[in-house]
Amino acid sequence: TMASLFPPPPVVALTIAGSQARFPVRRVYCVGRNYADHAREMGADTREPPFFFSKPADALVPVADGTAATVAYPPATNNLQHEVELVVALGPRIAELGQQGLNVPVETALEGVFGYAVGFDLTRRDQQQKAKEKAHPWDMGKGFDQSGPIGAIVPAAQAGHPASGAIWLEVNGERRQSGDLAQMSWNVAEVVANLSTFLRLAPGDLIFTGTPAGVSTVVRGDTLVGGVEGVGRLAVDRFAGKAHAAGGG
Ligand code: MN
Repeated sequence: TMASLFPPPPVVALTIAGSQARFPVRRVYCVGRNYADHAREMGADTREPPFFFSKPADALVPVADGTAATVAYPPATNNLQHEVELVVALGPRIAELGQQGLNVPVETALEGVFGYAVGFDLTRRDQQQKAKEKAHPWDMGKGFDQSGPIGAIVPAAQAGHPASGAIWLEVNGERRQSGDLAQMSWNVAEVVANLSTFLRLAPGDLIFTGTPAGVSTVVRGDTLVGGVEGVGRLAVDRFAGKAHAAGGG
C-alpha cells in the first residue's frame, strides 16, 4: 500500500448518550436565519427559503456529557458571538432515502436522522458582516478553528424528534438567548429535504439548524452554558488566550 506523506488527520467523532459507540463526523452544514426573531435582529423579516453554509468538520469541539470545553478566543475578530442551536445528526438510513441521500422527501426525512445534539455556532460577527457587505463568502466569519463546540448526540430512538421545547443560552450565568424549537421557520424535516436538493447527504453529516434571537458578544474569560429541552446542555468554561490585534484585512 502507498504510504501517506504525513499521518492522515483523525476523523472527528462525537459521543453518543448511553452508548460506547462514537459518531464519526463527515460534513457540517449550518442553516442561516432559521428563527424569525433572529432573522429580524439580523435585518430580514420574512420567511425566505433556507440557505446553508458549512464549517469544516475539524472546527468542531466535541464536549462529553458533564464536562465543559475551553475554547481558544479566535484571531482576527473584535466581535465573537454565540449562537445556540439544535444540531441534527444523520445516520445510516439517510443513504436509503430519496436517491441515496439526494432529493430526500420531506415526508420521510426524519427517518434519516439518527439523533440530536446541542451546538454553538460561534461567529466572528465583524468578519461575517464585512463579507455580507462585499457579497463575499462567510467562511472566515463562520468556519474558524474551534468554532463549533458540540455536546453528546441523543439518539432519536430514545428521545424522539423534538419539534418544540426551550432552546436557551447563558453568558456568565445571565440569560441571553431564549426561544423555542417551534419558532423554527423551517423544521428539521424541511431542512433535511431542502439541503438534499443541493447535494447528497450521507451518514455522519451534521446540520446546525439556526439560532433564536439574543446573540451577543463574548470576550476572553466568559462562560457559556446552553441547552435544548429534551436533548441536553453544553458548556464552555472560558474563552482562553492572549489579546492580539484583529487582522485579516
Ligand atoms: Mn447559526
